[in-house]
Amino acid sequence: MKIEVEAIGPMGHSFEFLIGPDIFETATSGFRLSAPARFSGLVEKRAHGAVVVGNIRGEIEVQCARCLAEVSRPLDIEVSVEFLNKEDFGSGENAELGPNDLDADVLDDGEIDLSALAAEQILLNVPEQYFCRPDCKGLCDKCGADLNLVDCSCGTGPIDPRWAGLKKLKDEGK
Ligand SMILES: [Zn+2]
Ligand SMILES: [Zn+2]
Repeated sequence: MKIEVEAIGPMGHSFEFLIGPDIFETATSGFRLSAPARFSGLVEKRAHGAVVVGNIRGEIEVQCARCLAEVSRPLDIEVSVEFLNKEDFGSGENAELGPNDLDADVLDDGEIDLSALAAEQILLNVPEQYFCRPDCKGLCDKCGADLNLVDCSCGTGPIDPRWAGLKKLKDEGK
């Protein structure tokens, strides 16, 4: 979905659209949208470009980095991005807004591509690693058993609490 900045009236241009899971061309990002996400907000024209304020809501399906289980997580991103005309980007009075500023973007051909913005914002806000729960034990290096479900006998897992108590007694007895 593209918005032409010149056509935006004094009240701004409000928008709401669905982002399909196919917004991401590759599956390498480690997550996917489990259903279309909703991007709603307002685009306002400014002297040097435009500002987009809104939010993206949906749900993503991610894989736990330890046990590889699929877990779903809510997606709730507040978006606030300033688009600057090319000639104003990184120059003059907007010099403090360089290309490294996450909240500033270049306005290309007087248009804002809201779909591309949504994809960019989702990628920026999804952590690289997810865990199904903070204390996920993961998979056994040797037999591949899910250590959340079974106690394999390979000995790579955490110390059994019963033996930990015994070890403590033994250590204190020294
Ligand atoms: Zn896990
Ligand atoms: Zn094992």
